Amino acid sequence: MAALTQSQEQTLARFASGSDRLRAALRDVPDSAFDLSLEPGEWSIRQIVHHLSDDGVTWCMALRKALATPGVPIRFEGFPGNEAWANALGYDRLPIQPALALIAAHGEVIAQLMRHFPDKWDGYVTAIDPAGGAEQKVTAGDMIGFLGEHFDEHIKVIEAIMQRHKVQHLQVNEQIRKLGGANVDIDLATPPEQIAWLQAKCPWNEAERTDQHRCAVKNVSICQYFRGVEPLDTLLCGYPPSL
Ligand code: SF4
Repeated sequence: MAALTQSQEQTLARFASGSDRLRAALRDVPDSAFDLSLEPGEWSIRQIVHHLSDDGVTWCMALRKALATPGVPIRFEGFPGNEAWANALGYDRLPIQPALALIAAHGEVIAQLMRHFPDKWDGYVTAIDPAGGAEQKVTAGDMIGFLGEHFDEHIKVIEAIMQRHKVQHLQVNEQIRKLGGANVDIDLATPPEQIAWLQAKCPWNEAERTDQHRCAVKNVSICQYFRGVEPLDTLLCGYPPSL
């Protein structure tokens, strides 16, 4: 029985992992983050997810045609462009969970078909330019390749958005272990120009107009008012001392 070549397997694996990679990028991200974008006016995470979901809607049927009825013409008539399409379909406000489920389902169906019919990798459809331009042969393998690239491209943008806005994964279902004896440096006295985030000020340093007090200094000391840390980086401080 025919099998996919190693290169075809790699192309398929990149595509087939797209849904999981996308979900991993969005794992335990607060809903409020879905409306963030890299720059004002650029697509938000929510819009990108709906855009990727439409990939599956569009290309799943084209791929089935390439396998079942090779050579048939397909037309994308009346497509107004990505922006107008996204606006008309409410990409900017619809919940993303159904779109993520659709992405996963299309990914599974497409991967299943290609593994079941490896000899049809070169099956193709003929894309007809509705404006009368040249016809283009698009093989099933082409589709798997550009859909995988499309995942990569947009997952990178989502990660860049999260990094730009310092979005943290909440990890609400994560099991937290409490382990004693850590030996770390913790302070609230780093000069602001040396860090890229906002840092509260040590009230003891503030009271004494100094920067000498440190919460924990590796191998040296722990402040008498240090009461621990809450996820992710909230310091529990007992200063000033109770009377
Ligand atoms: S534990 Fe509180 S008082 Fe002590 S160094 Fe840290 S912030 Fe300052």
